Amino acid sequence: MGETHQSEAGVRTLTHFINGKPVAGTSERFGEVFNPAFGKVSARVPLASVAEVDAAVAAAQAASVAWAETPPIKRARILFKFKDLLDQHHDELAELITREHGKVFSDAKGEVMRGIEVVEFACGIPNLLKTDFTDQIGGGIDNWNLRQPLGVVAGITPFNFPMMVPCWMFPVALACGNTFVLKPSERDPSASLRLAELLKEAGLPDGVFNVVHGDKTAVDALLAHPDVAALSFVGSTPIAEYIYTEGTKHGKRVQALGGAKNHLVVMPDADLDQAVDALIGAAYGSAGERCMAISVAVAVGHIADELIERLTPRVQSLQIGSGMDGNSEMGPLVTGAHRAKVEGYIEAGVTAGAKLVVDGRGHSVQGHEEGFFLGGTLFDHVATDMTIYKDEIFGPVLSVVRVADFASAVDLINAHEFGNGVSCFTSDGGVARAFSRQIKVGMVGINVPIPVPMAWHSFGGWKRSLFGDHHAYGEEGVRFYTRYKSIMQRWPDSIAKGAEFTMPVAK
Ligand code: NAD
Repeated sequence: MGETHQSEAGVRTLTHFINGKPVAGTSERFGEVFNPAFGKVSARVPLASVAEVDAAVAAAQAASVAWAETPPIKRARILFKFKDLLDQHHDELAELITREHGKVFSDAKGEVMRGIEVVEFACGIPNLLKTDFTDQIGGGIDNWNLRQPLGVVAGITPFNFPMMVPCWMFPVALACGNTFVLKPSERDPSASLRLAELLKEAGLPDGVFNVVHGDKTAVDALLAHPDVAALSFVGSTPIAEYIYTEGTKHGKRVQALGGAKNHLVVMPDADLDQAVDALIGAAYGSAGERCMAISVAVAVGHIADELIERLTPRVQSLQIGSGMDGNSEMGPLVTGAHRAKVEGYIEAGVTAGAKLVVDGRGHSVQGHEEGFFLGGTLFDHVATDMTIYKDEIFGPVLSVVRVADFASAVDLINAHEFGNGVSCFTSDGGVARAFSRQIKVGMVGINVPIPVPMAWHSFGGWKRSLFGDHHAYGEEGVRFYTRYKSIMQRWPDSIAKGAEFTMPVAK
């Protein structure tokens, strides 16, 4: 994989991937990549200078014309081979993710699968790029439209899905005929490099897909680069807003997906066993480091006490350990700094007066004493003015908010600044329908805790969870990565002589 050397302490030095090959970093700035289960640095990732970003964009620009001219079916054939390679390397990719992110291996395998599904969707690009044609809009005149690639497009991705989120972007972008520069999270960058190698092995021409690592310097260089036509971003809301504002200021097409605070409403008529199972998986899976994690349970009416009673032993008995240990249900957090931030929120919740039912702080795993572990945490009686309710914590912390009735649950959720995902557990079809229609959130689950749309639908939130007009992947992705053009055509034998000065109408 893209690495220049390995030191005696086993710390690898990673490379960029530009124009079809690994390229060592020259900025002399590096970030540390941890194995969070051991709390040890496993790699150094080069942080690109502006000149290195320029080199990646130049490679993408040079490859751009030939790739855009490549027939969609030929682009799709390369993606078919890529999908085949992803299947072959499924476990290897999942292990790379677990070793840098910390999530359990079975969860990482699920992430790889959700990435593969977007590749499968993108393999259908010849059909997806088919457009409308109207014969005879006027005498001897036809009208049709094209969807043409934008050119060089960039993706900037978060740490929590080092394979799946890049796959929300580049398979669709490449299939549409764009070339791509990926700036993955500097916290778990290895999966992106492996994807670049597999794309090359699948036959992707050099320069069509490039990986450049970095921090704000690299991102700002992409935002301002005149040859970058569009930017897809996924990450926290303050950065998403910055990317959207700066990118559009520079004339780029931008989609910027931000943070979340996802609620799960438990109605009094819900199947409580199912609701508790759903909450445990959705709040504590991947240690809560999912943009679709449930971090608030909204207990409606009399069900609250029983919900807390049933949740408590389940949170206390979560199996926490290394992601590579097959018994673990939850791994460590991504870094020590992130764990400290989550612990700070727990303290803030206690200070604000929420009831700390289960405290995950101080959790230690035998043989992994230096790992970034945090136990599952449960709060009851959380109020809407507390920071643990308002902010995205992005850790294994579930807050229970008690409300009187369905209308109050809907009002509560609609008043939150985020609107990524939401769920309602109920056995009443009328409630389910009303909830789906009234709720101001982009992705809704009815008795489904994490309603991440499949690859041929599209992913995106509302309110401050998404800046821009298009959701990610699916047909929305095809629209984002193509420019619409209308063509009207006639031939000399249907053209009447003489200039026309009136607005043309069908004749
Ligand atoms: P982050 O915002 O810290 O980083 C995302 C990307 O932005 C990274 O590539 C990072 O290098 C870059 N970046 C960081 N600081 C920057 C700055 N000052 N200027 C320019 N670029 C900068 O996010 P994260 O911690 O990696 O990921 C977690 C966040 O991502 C959570 O808020 C989560 O909700 C969100 N997320 C959202 C979705 C979604 O679909 N809405 C999906 C996954 C993650």
